[in-house]
Amino acid sequence: MLAVGLKTRGMHFSGAFFRNEAGPVIGTMASSSFNSHGPVTMSITSLIEADRKHLIHPVVNYRAHEARGVTILESAHGSFVRDADGNELLDAFAGLWCVNVGYGQQSIVEAAAAQMKKLPYATGYFHFGSEPAIELAAQLVERSPASLQHVYFTLGGSDAIDSAVRFITHYFNAIGQPQKKQFISLARGYHGSSSVGSGLTALPTFHRHFDLPLPHQHYIASPYAYRNDFADDAALIAASAAALEAKVAALGAENVAAFFCEPIQGSGGVIVPPVGWLKAMRDTCRKLGILFVADEVITGFGRTGPLFACEAEGVEPDLMTVAKGLTAGYAPMGAVLMSDEVYRGIADGSPDAAIGHGFTYSGHPVSAAIGLEVMRLYHEGGLLANAAALGPRFAQGLDALLAHPLVGDSRHRGLLGALELVADKDTKAGFDAALKLPDRIAAAAYRNRLIFRAFGDSILGFAPALSYSADEFDLLFERLRRTLDDVLAEPDVRAALDSKTRVAAC
Ligand code: PLP
Repeated sequence: MLAVGLKTRGMHFSGAFFRNEAGPVIGTMASSSFNSHGPVTMSITSLIEADRKHLIHPVVNYRAHEARGVTILESAHGSFVRDADGNELLDAFAGLWCVNVGYGQQSIVEAAAAQMKKLPYATGYFHFGSEPAIELAAQLVERSPASLQHVYFTLGGSDAIDSAVRFITHYFNAIGQPQKKQFISLARGYHGSSSVGSGLTALPTFHRHFDLPLPHQHYIASPYAYRNDFADDAALIAASAAALEAKVAALGAENVAAFFCEPIQGSGGVIVPPVGWLKAMRDTCRKLGILFVADEVITGFGRTGPLFACEAEGVEPDLMTVAKGLTAGYAPMGAVLMSDEVYRGIADGSPDAAIGHGFTYSGHPVSAAIGLEVMRLYHEGGLLANAAALGPRFAQGLDALLAHPLVGDSRHRGLLGALELVADKDTKAGFDAALKLPDRIAAAAYRNRLIFRAFGDSILGFAPALSYSADEFDLLFERLRRTLDDVLAEPDVRAALDSKTRVAAC
């Protein structure tokens, strides 16, 4: 059942009273509208209408959303979500790359309920704290790269990025290098949508009409092997490092504060750089005297294999941002992990003044209790081991689809992967935007009871939960192949393919 409180023009609901001043009770309201114990239960039609009128959704075209209407998800278990019409869908995207442990983990529900009963809130202000927040901070430090010694908790990834920028700015001012104000990130990078972070994000949608990027935000090319002609991985890595050096030289190293990157670019299209790239970028930052910030909001918590992607290459960042898998989406929480050097710079630079950065819900005890249980599931619960065992199955399933007429590239690490669709495999030419291929792929996938991410440029992103079974991977690829076949069978899509591919597909 879906339940919401309601206040629309002409209707008021409070406690046991629900009345429609404009006339008789509205026909679309479910019969359970009168409920003396809790909020009004609305019919699906009414919910869709109320959503259209009142709820602003993240990153959609508002008018298109009003026309289309919301798809309401009602419940979930394991790797499946159920919509309000009763359709059971296989979730191959872990919600929004976050439900790494799968849905319905009872032990998390119990940990949250126990914490809510014991202490539902504790401020971190005025030197107060709570046991779960302290324990989680200690665990994060223990399990993350050795350079990271201090943790500031946020509510998600965007405010983790925003906090990192504030800490870095404060740090350089505090240590007497106030001219270090320039920030560099990667083209196609995603670092959330705060006022400052969305300028580090290098996706046009996040800039348009937001007066971004800011003058001190700069980009270098994405390590996008498929769309670049590098002789080999070493050449790509060298080119990335050289691009960073050139950008820093152009800005003046004395003016550059930090370089932000995702170990694998997620929202920019799951761009998987070769192994060695992250280490090379880290080393370049050290050589240039700028801070290296690893944004592991997606790649953290087993998504790419180890707990953190940095671990695979022995990379020790100056700061690291995390969220999503930290609580596996069961409650909002993110964090900035910080080196002792940066922490000391800030602490010792302001011996008598408070550091003016704080959120009411920093280190929220319920989110932290959830984080501790999620961490237990990754380790003692065997989820990291399960993901490592089934990673090759995921990789093979994606790679096998390279033979499909629509698929130009397959890329992956751990349980993070993508297929890139092209109209011509030789030239790698994409599809005319007028075809609206991503929308059609997403709709066909939904009809086949499968959820994944269809990016605007015909890149399909996958991030199954670490709890997936072998059978669920089989189901994922069966449904994905059917989806691609269904879309390929549409005459205008087939006509858009180059003639060689068309013949092969017949
Ligand atoms: N950084 C990265 C790499 C992300 O992928 C995201 C979200 O997808 C964010 C930051 C922002 O996180 P949030 O949506 O929790 O604010």
